[in-house]
Formats: sequence, structure tokens, C-alpha cells
Amino acid sequence: MTSNLIDVKGIGPKTLTILNKLGINTYQDLLFYYPFRFEVIVRSDVKQLDQDDHIVIDGHVENIPNVSFFGKRKNRMSFIINTGYNIYNVVIFNRAFLKNNFRIGMPVTVIGKYDKKHSMIVASDIKFSLLPSKPVIEPIYHVTSGISSAQLQKIIDIALNNDFDVTEYIPPYLIDKYKLGAKKEAVIEIHKPTSQSNLKKATNYLKYEELFLFMLKMNYLRQRRSGAIGLKRTVDYDKVKAFIATLPFPLTEDQTKSVEKIYDDLTNEKQMNRLIQGDVGSGKTIVAVIALYINYLSHYQGVLMAPTEILAVQHYDSLKSLLEHTDIKIELLTGKLKASEKKDIYKRLANNDIDILIGTHALFSDDVIYHNLGLVITDEQHRFGVNQRSSLKNKGTTPDILYLSATPIPRTYAIVLYGDMDISSIHTMPRGRKEIITLLKKNSEIKDVLDLMYQELKAHHQIYVIAPLIEESDKSDLENVYEVKEKIDRAFGKICKSAILHGKMSTKEKDEVMKKYQNNEISILISTTVIEVGVDVKNATMMVIFDSYRFGLSQLHQLRGRVGRNDLQSYCVLISDRETERLSVLTKTNDGFKVSEEDFRLRGSGDLFGTRQSGDMHFNLANIKQDFNILLKAREDSEELLNSKDFTTNEEYQNIRELMEKAISIS
Ligand code: ADP
Ligand code: MG
Repeated sequence: MTSNLIDVKGIGPKTLTILNKLGINTYQDLLFYYPFRFEVIVRSDVKQLDQDDHIVIDGHVENIPNVSFFGKRKNRMSFIINTGYNIYNVVIFNRAFLKNNFRIGMPVTVIGKYDKKHSMIVASDIKFSLLPSKPVIEPIYHVTSGISSAQLQKIIDIALNNDFDVTEYIPPYLIDKYKLGAKKEAVIEIHKPTSQSNLKKATNYLKYEELFLFMLKMNYLRQRRSGAIGLKRTVDYDKVKAFIATLPFPLTEDQTKSVEKIYDDLTNEKQMNRLIQGDVGSGKTIVAVIALYINYLSHYQGVLMAPTEILAVQHYDSLKSLLEHTDIKIELLTGKLKASEKKDIYKRLANNDIDILIGTHALFSDDVIYHNLGLVITDEQHRFGVNQRSSLKNKGTTPDILYLSATPIPRTYAIVLYGDMDISSIHTMPRGRKEIITLLKKNSEIKDVLDLMYQELKAHHQIYVIAPLIEESDKSDLENVYEVKEKIDRAFGKICKSAILHGKMSTKEKDEVMKKYQNNEISILISTTVIEVGVDVKNATMMVIFDSYRFGLSQLHQLRGRVGRNDLQSYCVLISDRETERLSVLTKTNDGFKVSEEDFRLRGSGDLFGTRQSGDMHFNLANIKQDFNILLKAREDSEELLNSKDFTTNEEYQNIRELMEKAISIS
């Protein structure tokens, strides 16, 4: 059994570096580097070739190829083949190195495209050893410069021919139940498919294994957590109600339900691990504030963590005003504080002189020591890496945890994807909101957009303009924030002020701009997506998004959630010349759950990877949407296994138990 990559024939130091770039560092990595798609090569019917047909055709070489060179390093090789039925000219580019392989009369298989008018084949590949006449399934791998898919295939082929072991995880009774076969065979089959049905069986095995292990891990974590003893609190619900009565508005039905759940979680002994998912503007912040209040009533410190400084400051301001009439001590901790200010906060925190600390990831720094941390709330949960989250968790004994997520996903998926948490969804929007009117415009219709902007500015409303950011490396024809500002100022410079906000500005600059916008000293904020999460400016009634095709539907939906935050009619204009059908979904609904469902339908699991941290949930083969049924089975099976009496003792589950232990040590 070979265990080192470098020992595999065909892998030298150079190839090794390239493989490393692909994330292939071990022999196992190589074996589990699966093709991302397959090409089925079926012999063409030589009697029925049509213009532009993709064809695979056998013939005998009639002449020694003719090679001509052009351009910098390009070449064109042509030769004639005889199929026994017809004679064709074959042209292939940049394969001059193949010329010496040709002998007159030898059989070849030509793969390419048919040009009927010239009785010519433009070949993409030539096989000298004839392909077997039955259909050939070719694995296609993701590669990087320096290696082709075919070269990688060869290397994997050699690796497969060595004697190798694979660790089996799926318990034998499940293998039998689904007739999955052997893992080793599946691994070989996926790299060297022998037939469509065998390939299907192999991918089924490997997908099921991935999803089964994922669900097992999730359920395992959940089980352990549900056993975790958290803080025991006694809080009088009347006091909570009294506090809610001081808020500037009555809670919506779903807000009330979430609060009740949180109250239950906090006052029972189990550790809370709850996700609140709700559309932008659905009012998750207030729910968080009430949770912090309950936590305060039980004499613990609480933290609220935001993904950006802007948001942290905004939360700080709104919490200060909402908690004004209480004697709760709130502080803000961000990276930009002076060292002496930070020190002061650390000291007061340790002395229990601060009740609620709001901040960015600065809350994680090693210097931060809490007196008695009881509640950790993470706003826009998906913005944080798993490690950051857990390092914060480690700061208290077992603080209760609340996540807020503005990416609502359909309940069916949420239950599965967030299986390790309890979930509350906020569907109802605060009353009095008008639906945002969303329009889709082409670049050529910019005048309509400017007219609408003018109308809003005249009414003294404010506008967001979103322009995708140009990275230094990406000098494409995208609208740049600065270009957009010029345009905007040309149109409206006389009647109002505009300003730019982007991620490369210093925190101080960003804060200044944001403050001015919040105070209505600026009417038009031209921004990259830094404003995406959370920002709350009630007087903003219009959003214009350039190049909107660049964004996912859920992301656009989040962006437009910045407007429509009061009882005024608000507008969102999506400007794009491309993908208008996809974007039109947003003109038809304002319901984030529906948008996310549609996004999901169109892009598979793509956006959900953004929802949960990608590291949490990277699947090699499986696709959550396409393989949803497998996922459901995997969930059921994993629960059953975990609940089985002999899970902790049976020798057969040793591999799985080890894997689970590893999972909890890093989560
Ligand atoms: P998000 O869920 O996107 O974080 P916020 O918590 O920022 O939403 O709330 C959006 C706006 O709605 C805020 O201005 C907030 O004060 C207001 N709001 C929240 N709940 C209610 C309610 N029950 N009635 C009226 N306005 C509300
Ligand atoms: Mg929010």
C-alpha cells in the first residue's frame, strides 16, 4: 500500500506542487478527488452526420498530417481519414506534437464537431488506441494550470491500481438496506466508469455517505448540546412584559412567539442554542434586546456581536435608546477604540460593571474576560466563521446562544441544515409597512431611473445607489462607485449631496459617512455592498442597484431590505441588461422565504453555502437540492443509529465514533 503521493508513478516534485494547489496533499486526497462531471462518448452514426453535430467517429489515417504554425505559439494540423463510408478532412489545433504518432493506414477515433459544408471535422481530441465500441464515460476533473483533466485522470488511474484501503463508515445494515455495494468499488467506479448504471450506484454510495456523515455529526452535536446543562435562571415573566410595554411599538405575532420561546429556553436548565431567522426588516433586533433584558434580569452579562462596525454602532445607539429608562450599563467595543479605552472596558467588564457589551469580532480578543457571561447573540450569523463563534462561546461557562439570520430559508431546508439548533422564524412584518415596488430596468432606460430618483429627492427622501466594487484585478466594464458618483452628481449635484461608502475606506471614514447619511446631511449614498446587512435609515425610500445580475436573488433581497422601513412608499430599481428573467423574481415577491426558495431552485445549494459557513457544509459530490431525498433518508438513518442501544459499544461503529469525536473537538 502506497501512502505517499510522491511514490505514485508519474508524480514528480513539479506535479506534486500542482496537486497541492488543487488541495490534494495525501494519497487519500487523490483518491477522493472526484470528477465534477462526466462526458458520455457514443459513436456517431456515420450515415447521419449533420452540420455542427458533436461526433465520435472511427477511421483509418490516409496521409501524414500537414502542420502549419501561426500566431505566437499556435498551430494547425490537418489530415484525412477514411471511415469506410466516406472521406473526411480532419483539422485539430495546437496538437502538432501528435504528428509523430501518425502512420498511414492506422486506425484512429476522432472526437469533434462536424462541418458539413466542407466535409470537415474540427477535432477536439484524437484517440490512437481505438475506443471500445460501447459508450465511453469520461470523467472530467476540475484542474488548474499545469495539469489537464486527462493527465489527472492518468495519475488517479495509477493510484487506483496500487493496493489501497478505504475506511468504511456506513454501517453494514444500511449498506444492505440501500444495496450500496462496497466503498472501494464505488471509488474506482467514479474515476473509471464502466456503465451508466454502475456509475449511478457508485455516486449514490458516495453521496449517501457524505450526507449521512453530515447529518450524523449534526445530530450528534445536537444530542450533546441538548444534554448540556446551561444556566439556571428565575425570571418573572411579568417583568419582561412590563419591559415590552415600554417599547415604542407593539410586537408582531411572530416576534412575540420568538420572545416566548427564548424566555422558555433561558429559564430552563438546558443551554439555549436558537436561531431566529426572519426577513430583513422583520424586527429581529428587538427580539435580541428582549433576550438581553431577560438575561440582565437574571444577573448575567450579555454580548451582542455584529459583523461590521457600522452595524455595531447602530445597535449600540438603538439599544441605548431602547434601554434608556433602565439602569443597564451598555458599552461598545470595536477595533477602533484607543488602547486605554479598551483597557478600561476590559477592567469594568471583569468587575461586572458592564451589563451588555456590543461589538464586532473585537469581542473575541483574548484580553476580554467576562465576569459572568450568560448570553451570546450573534447578529447576521452567517457572517461569522465557526471558529470565531466557538471562541466566544468559550468565554463563559455555558452561556446561552442566540443567532440572528436575515437569510430566511424555507423551513424544509432549515430543519435539515440547522438541525443542530432550534429555529424560530419571523414571517410577519411590522404593521404599516408598504410593499417595496421593485422595477427592472435596462441600462438604456437610465432616464426613467433618474426621473424616479428626482421625484424622491424632491420629497426630501434619501436614496441608496449600489455599485458592485471593482477590485484592482477586475477591471471589467462594471460600474465603479466613483464613476457612478460622477454620473449622479452630474444629474443631481445642484440639488443634493452624495457620498461614497466602500469597504476599503477606514472605519472612521465609513462611520462619518454613515452618520451624515443617518442625519440626512447626505441624500444619496453610493455604496458597494458594505451596507448589505442591517443598516437602518428610515427616511431612505429608494435603492438603485447597478449590474444587479452580479448578485444572487437572496443577496439582492437583503439589499433592498434597506428601504421600506417606514410607512412611505419605497422603490428598488434593478439595473441589468442580463439575466432579466432570474431577476424578475424580485419584481414579483417581497417575501424573503419565497425569494430564497427560488434562489435555491435556480442555483441549487449555492446560496445556502453562504447561509451556513461554507466550512460547515462543503459537499464533495452531494447537492442539497438535487439530493434532497437522500439527505432526508440520511437524516432519518443517522438519528436511528445514534439512538440505537449499541451505538456506543458495537465494534462496527468504531470508525463513526472516532469521526464524531473529531467533529466535536473542532466545533
Ligand atoms: P431586522 O430583522 O432586519 O434586523 P430590525 O430589527 O432592524 O430588522 O427592524 C427593522 C425596523 O422595524 C426597525 O426600525 C425597528 O425599530 C422596526 N420594528 C421592529 N419591530 C417592530 C414592530 N413590532 N412594529 C413596528 N416597527 C418595528
Ligand atoms: Mg438586523
